[in-house]
Amino acid sequence: MKEFKAAMAEYLASENITPEVFHRRIIQIQFTPHTAATWEGQVVCYTLVDLVSRLFQGLRLEIPDVPCLFRWGKDRTLKAVLEERYHVATGFKDEPPLGLDAPVLTIQIGEGEGKADFYVSSSQWKAIISPTPILNSLIHSEILPTGAVAAACLTAIELVKKVLGKGSLDSHYIFSTFDPSQMLDENPVVSSLPLGEVILAGAGSIGTGFLYTLLFSDAASGKILLLDGDPKLDARNYLRYVLPTRQDIECFSSVSKVDWAKGRLADYGFPLEVEVVPRDFDPAMRDTEDELDLVISAVDRNDSRHDIAYYRPRRVINAATGSTTITLTTHGQDKELACLACHFSDDTKKWQGLIQDIAGIFGLSVERVTELLGNSSLRTTEEDYQVMIAAGCAEPNCPNDYIGLNRDGLRKHERMYAKISLPEQFGGTDVTLPFVPLLAGCLQAAETLKHRLDLKPNPYNYLRFDVMDIKTCIHPRRKKVSPKCLVCNDHGESNFILEDELKLTGI
Ligand SMILES: [Zn+2]
Repeated sequence: MKEFKAAMAEYLASENITPEVFHRRIIQIQFTPHTAATWEGQVVCYTLVDLVSRLFQGLRLEIPDVPCLFRWGKDRTLKAVLEERYHVATGFKDEPPLGLDAPVLTIQIGEGEGKADFYVSSSQWKAIISPTPILNSLIHSEILPTGAVAAACLTAIELVKKVLGKGSLDSHYIFSTFDPSQMLDENPVVSSLPLGEVILAGAGSIGTGFLYTLLFSDAASGKILLLDGDPKLDARNYLRYVLPTRQDIECFSSVSKVDWAKGRLADYGFPLEVEVVPRDFDPAMRDTEDELDLVISAVDRNDSRHDIAYYRPRRVINAATGSTTITLTTHGQDKELACLACHFSDDTKKWQGLIQDIAGIFGLSVERVTELLGNSSLRTTEEDYQVMIAAGCAEPNCPNDYIGLNRDGLRKHERMYAKISLPEQFGGTDVTLPFVPLLAGCLQAAETLKHRLDLKPNPYNYLRFDVMDIKTCIHPRRKKVSPKCLVCNDHGESNFILEDELKLTGI
C-alpha cells in the first residue's frame, strides 16, 4: 500500500496535476426552497459546483434541504450530493483552507431577491444571467438540460471576469443554445430527446462536455459510439475536464479514456447506450460500406478532422476551442457547403507555432522536431534524450518516458488547452478554463437535438465567438467549399481546380 501511495505521489507530481494557483475566494451559491426543488435549478447548481471546484478554492452552499432529483443522488439531499461532488472534484485539496475573512462572491439561482453578485436562471434552450434579480424564469421542465448547463457556464465566465477585472456584467443577458448568434429567437418546448445513433469522435474535454450535458436528462434515448485512441485521461488537461473528477484522474491512470468514460457513465446511469472503440477515427476504415449518418467531432487536431471529413458523413457537428474561443461548425446538409476539412485546413503558420511549442516543451531543436514530425517512422533516440536532460526538459533515469516517442506522442503535447494568464497579483500563472470546452460540448448537444427533432436549422454553418465577450463577439457565417480543400477535391465536389486548368488551356 505504501508503495502504491509513493507511486501515485510520483505520478501526480510528474503530471503537474497540482492546480495552478487560482482564486482564494469563496463562492456562495444560494437558492430559494421553491427554485431548489426544480430540476432545471438543480442542473444549473450541479454544473456550477463542478466548474467552481476547478476554479475557486472555497464553496459555500446556502441550499434548503430538498431531495436531489438526479438518478445518481436518489434518496439524498441535493446539498449532500453536491458537497460530495465538490470533495471528489476539487483540485484544491492540498491547499490550506480559506479563512473566514476570505472574499465571497454570491450567486442566486432562479427567483429570489436575496443580495447577490449574479442572478442566474434558465428556460429550456436559454440561459439567463443578470446583475439584478430575475423573476419567473425557471420553468418546471425535466427534459432539456442545455440552457441550464450553459447558464452555469455563463456564471463561471462572469465570476472569472469579475475576479480578473475583465469587465463587469452591467445588464440582463440571454444566451440561447438553440442559436447562440440569436438570429433565431426560438425556444421550443421538447418532450423527448431522441438522439438515435451518434458517433462521438473524441472523449477529451469537449466530448465529455457533450456527454456531461446529456447525463442530466432521463428523457434522452439512443446509442453513442465513442471513439478515442488515447491510452488514459490526461492529467495535464484535468482543469479543462468537467466530467472526470480529480479522483478519476488519480485512480484511472492505467485505463484507456474510452473505458474510463464507459465505466463512469454507467455509474451515473447514463440514459443512452454506450459502445466504445479505443482508437481514433481511422482513415483505414474509409472502405466501410455504410454511410455515416451523424458524427460529433470533438477532436483537437486538424488531421483527425480531415479523417472524419473523408467519410462524408451525412451530418457532422463539430466544435473546436482556443484559449477563450469556441468555433461551432456544421457540415453535410448541402454539397456546396464547406466540409470539415474546408474549415480546418492545415495552417502553416499555426503549424510552425506548434513545432516551436513542442521544441520548447522537449528542449529539442526546431529542426529536430520538424524532422520527427515529418516522418512517422522516426523515433526519439538516446541522443535526443540526452539533449532533453541537458535542457532540463526530461528527468534523468526515466528513459522509458522519452526514448522512442513517436510523432503522435510528440504531437499530443500540443498546448491547445484553454488557458488565460492571471494578472501578477494572482501569481501571473496560466489557468485553464473548464467552461470553454463544456459550453462547446453543450452547444454540440443542442445542435444534435435540433437535428434529430427536425427543428429549424441555423441559417449559418460557421459560428465563432469569444466566451469572455459573448455579447459583442458572435460572428455567424455561411461558408462554402474551399477551392483548396483536399477532401472536397478528392470527392469531386470542388471544381475550382478544373476551372483553373480550363483557363490555362484556353478551352
Ligand atoms: Zn472540403
